[in-house]
Amino acid sequence: MARVISDDCVSCGTCAGECPVDAISEGDGKYVIDADTCVDCGACEEACPTGAISEAE
Ligand code: SF4
Repeated sequence: MARVISDDCVSCGTCAGECPVDAISEGDGKYVIDADTCVDCGACEEACPTGAISEAE
């Protein structure tokens, strides 16, 4: 499992600095999480100011 970033992302980059495994990078219009790298720790979800990060279904 991995976290996912929704369209609520405003590309502030806060989450990328919190990820311990560098799974988050800037994508086209929003940040994206590499599902193969993410260890589902939840650090980014707490850091996101817009609540755009959640657990993948
Ligand atoms: Fe990185 Fe943890 Fe967020 Fe996964 S859940 S992207 S490992 S900070």
